[in-house]
Amino acid sequence: MQSQNLLYEGKGKRLYKIDNTDTLLSVFKDDLTAFNAQKKSSEKGKGSLNCQISSQIFKILESKNIKTHFIQTLNDNTMLCKKVQIIPIEVVVRNIATGSLIKRLGIAESLIIKDTPLRQPLVEFYYKDDALGDPIITDSHCLMMNLITSEEIKILKTIALQVNEILQEYFDRAGLNLIDFKLEFGRDKDNTIILADEISPDSCRLWDKVTHKKMDKDIFRQNLGSVTSAYKEVLERLNNL
Ligand code: UDP
Repeated sequence: MQSQNLLYEGKGKRLYKIDNTDTLLSVFKDDLTAFNAQKKSSEKGKGSLNCQISSQIFKILESKNIKTHFIQTLNDNTMLCKKVQIIPIEVVVRNIATGSLIKRLGIAESLIIKDTPLRQPLVEFYYKDDALGDPIITDSHCLMMNLITSEEIKILKTIALQVNEILQEYFDRAGLNLIDFKLEFGRDKDNTIILADEISPDSCRLWDKVTHKKMDKDIFRQNLGSVTSAYKEVLERLNNL
């Protein structure tokens, strides 16, 4: 990869432009960050596991008519993607109340869906801005800041809930509960809103259905051990479906 082609380096990936095309290369890094990058580490092989898991998920979503930026996996840690203009909103969907939600609202954590106070999946928007610590925002803030139109707000929420249904069922077959996850969307060259970024154990909470063992980035956030051994198990379970 030529360094002069580097378009953007984020916490989890480097994006490289491919001249005269509407595509780019997304190279997944081994770096781990949490708490707005105040906690940092790295585990060899993490990037490649996330790239492979993310590729599987994008393929499943595409097969169910959800439009994504995914084109193909080029090697273990590199994905060929459509170039998009990222919408600076992190869309979080929650099935079980945990993480920042329970801290913000002072509610107790539950391990299973029937105990959670969420009666239906919850969709939240966060403003993607590291300097501000990605604050939670309402629909009105999105409109006020000209991030998206009210029609697009509906589109994001609808797609997010469709993705939730598809992935809940998919992970369930792999013996995993999809607790919550974060999506990012972008506009492609035709201005169509499509799913972008990654969907991996770095951006989802996945708990074993039976033991409730955490198999996602909370392992790193909470010093519970090695993320790569858990992510490897997630990939193996998905590959065995
Ligand atoms: N998430 C993410 N990137 C972020 C913030 C959250 O991928 O910058 C994911 C996180 O992994 C979890 C979900 O979004 O699956 C909800 O995260 P939460 O708001 O509970 O925040 P956290 O506890 O991670 O601070």
